[in-house]
Amino acid sequence: MEAFTVDKFCKNCGDRLELSADEGLECTKCKCYIHIKCLKRGSVPGGLYGDTFHAFICYECSSDNTESFVRIRLSWLQIIVLVLYHLQHKSPGLARKGFFHWRHHVATFIDKNWEILFPSDFKKKKKWTGTIAGTLSHFNKYIFLSGITVFNEPAFWTLMYPKISPLTISSVYSLMAVEKQNIKLKKEIPVSDAELFSRLLHSCVINKELLKTFNVNSMQIQAETKSDGNDSMDIVEESKKFGDTRSRHKRKNAKHLGITSRKLLRLATSTAALSDDLTNFNLGSPDTDQSSQECKTEDVKPKDVSRLLNPFCHYNTSLSNISRMKGITLQNKLTGGIRQDLILSPYSGMHLKPYIRRDAETFPPWLKLMAEIQLAANSSNPDYFLPPRAPLDYTYVQPEHIPAINSLCNQFFWPGIDLTETLQYPDFSCVVLYKRLIVGFAFLVPDVSHTENYLSFLFTRPYWRNCGIAKFMIYHLIQTSVGKDITLHVSMNNPVLLLYQRFGFKVENVVVGFYDKYVRNDVSESKNAFLCRLDR
Ligand SMILES: [Zn+2]
Ligand SMILES: [Zn+2]
Repeated sequence: MEAFTVDKFCKNCGDRLELSADEGLECTKCKCYIHIKCLKRGSVPGGLYGDTFHAFICYECSSDNTESFVRIRLSWLQIIVLVLYHLQHKSPGLARKGFFHWRHHVATFIDKNWEILFPSDFKKKKKWTGTIAGTLSHFNKYIFLSGITVFNEPAFWTLMYPKISPLTISSVYSLMAVEKQNIKLKKEIPVSDAELFSRLLHSCVINKELLKTFNVNSMQIQAETKSDGNDSMDIVEESKKFGDTRSRHKRKNAKHLGITSRKLLRLATSTAALSDDLTNFNLGSPDTDQSSQECKTEDVKPKDVSRLLNPFCHYNTSLSNISRMKGITLQNKLTGGIRQDLILSPYSGMHLKPYIRRDAETFPPWLKLMAEIQLAANSSNPDYFLPPRAPLDYTYVQPEHIPAINSLCNQFFWPGIDLTETLQYPDFSCVVLYKRLIVGFAFLVPDVSHTENYLSFLFTRPYWRNCGIAKFMIYHLIQTSVGKDITLHVSMNNPVLLLYQRFGFKVENVVVGFYDKYVRNDVSESKNAFLCRLDR
């Protein structure tokens, strides 16, 4: 047990490493330790919080002046502990009352980060998600904790000891086999695995503060005060207290208010005081938007002060369209490249893969037309073959895409849209390219309320439509939005409404004059909008 109790110091900053909570990495050559945050590259590959499961060689010991990391082969238990630990630190907003859904959160996360978690030669078995469910229930009540008492269903899980690092959990677990042998040899009374694990953990962890187990009740209270009334779980609880009709009424009221406040905000963005308003739209600023203020005056449960994003942050009309378009070359207006390396998301701290999907099958109408022209032009040449078609690349938004996307928005939606803000949460974007040409994009604004993301823009170029591009983008955005409702506005006569409906979006309300300020008079599209919601 020495490994748990000996003081270690970071070779970079000299500070003590926090035992059982932030042990840092040990260089396999010089045996020195270093904080993850003190690494030259700033984080471990993949960026998972608490991920010390690497064979590491420090900068000084390496032959080529780069820190080297090799993923240690992890058991499913280690992976699930690591993923829950990461989610709880980096995406607490996903959780429901501190618990994560084993499939929507844990399995989805593992699937998305497969290359980060497993060595390259590790084969994905068909029923790997079943292994996750099995592992969680096997270690229930000593490594994991099921949310069954809170949710009445076993799908939600959290860590029993949320403050203890995955490394310590897995080291203590591996000590269990030795300890069991000892018990047998000494002919002591055998104890349950859960009991043994807890005993070992308590003897290994010096800082008793870290041993605090997950407290279901305290989380519940916290979550209830945080609630804005849209969560179905909260309705059940509220209805117990106040009677069903009242809570339902409350919910309706809250939704209704949401709409009017948004409308007000939209008007506010077009007024002269715009620059002041825009400062409030930055990610880091506290939630001072009108919606929360209005909610308070209307005697609806006040929202807490955590950061909620405003879906109308993009409607930045402060810059003149002409000055914006000046200085952007035609090529910039049309194209954006794809970076081949992982993109670090400022929102989730995750490294996003360069491609969401590469689709070589789909043959969009525009490319069909081009192919026909090429064939016609070469009809006299019997040896002529069409050159191979490039795939449609689905990627997360990158800075290179922004000028072209803004330009398309100005052309097809209305002037003044600036989607630079989406770079703050690339996880919730989808940009489709054919070679370097941007053919479509879709964006969600995350966290417009605690239970809701907002679909702000969806676009496919004419002649690239009706071949499944928008469908896949919507599908992808729904995938990224686990456990949260998605809302959107759509013009009343826009046929895309049918596509949304196929995904389960339901019309919740009509907003008269929603597009008044934006859509030109000569456009046939209705200025009235449907507010649609996908209930999760
Ligand atoms: Zn350090
Ligand atoms: Zn070293």
